[in-house]
Amino acid sequence: MKAVYTELHRSHDPQFFLVRGVVKRTTEQPERADRLLAGLKAAKHHLVAPTTFGQGPRTRVHSVEYLSFLAEAWEAWSALGDAGAEMIANMHPVRMGGTYPAHIVGRLGWHTVDTACPIGPGTWAAACAATDVATTAAQLVMDGEAAVYALCRPPGHHAYRDLAGGFCFLNNTAVAAAHLRLMHERVAILDVDVHHGNGTQGIFFERSDVLTVSIHADPAAYYPYVWGYAHERGAGAGLGSNLNIPLPIGTGDAGYLEALGRAQKTIEAFAPGALVVALGLDASEHDPLAGLAVTTNGFRRIGQAIARLGLPTVLVQEGGYLSDILGTNLTAVLAGFEEAR
Ligand code: ZN
Repeated sequence: MKAVYTELHRSHDPQFFLVRGVVKRTTEQPERADRLLAGLKAAKHHLVAPTTFGQGPRTRVHSVEYLSFLAEAWEAWSALGDAGAEMIANMHPVRMGGTYPAHIVGRLGWHTVDTACPIGPGTWAAACAATDVATTAAQLVMDGEAAVYALCRPPGHHAYRDLAGGFCFLNNTAVAAAHLRLMHERVAILDVDVHHGNGTQGIFFERSDVLTVSIHADPAAYYPYVWGYAHERGAGAGLGSNLNIPLPIGTGDAGYLEALGRAQKTIEAFAPGALVVALGLDASEHDPLAGLAVTTNGFRRIGQAIARLGLPTVLVQEGGYLSDILGTNLTAVLAGFEEAR
């Protein structure tokens, strides 16, 4: 399989992560990509460098105001003179009758949903490179490849139209889906990350042309807590084109694959022209974020089930954190996909 990758992700190396009041080093580290890359090389997947598409694909799913904020953020922050090494908001105004602020500290609060998305000097460049990786993979599929994998870092599925959060800044999965929409009337997104794809859901919530399906650890007990419940089904024209399948914490292969069967039926009924898989690998039994308990063989079977949909497919890397098995699980899911194709 062709796999799109660039070293440009390395300029984003966040340190700050606030967990239950404790400051830790973030789990979203450049080394994740090294381990994923090792998984690709072990299976001899064909590495491809991304094409630079510019701002166009990003503006299909993000507001111009938000993109400007991200592009200007570091320079404005540095100019404060007394600011920290990473941009972390000291307010989240939730927009209750407020006014879009001019000050960088206000804009930072306005555009971030939590503290898990610190911005550093190289964040914008890395996030832009990740959308180029996703768009390149989508373009290759539009040009005739059956399936292409996009090694995106930072991840994207918690990013909304104009909000960063949960390690995510630009929604690579949504960017890939919007690019595929240039060719296909309907596109489905299947999110298998252990966390609910709340940003992706938010972006497409009122649209009937993009089906969003997410299988994840129950938000009643797990990030993002506020979104990801089964009753969130879309709104307006998009009512019925959002499916959430929350699973009890610790669910293993059997429960996961049963949920995936439900997701498959919904996707088949939607009859999309193409599929984007938000491929988090953090549902692993060995992932440090410990939400679900999928085995390596389980990932292989997830790959097989996705392939059986028979759709042109873009697989976009989302979460999956440092464990000895991270690269192995990527190898397994792609092997499963290729053997069932
Ligand atoms: Zn995740």
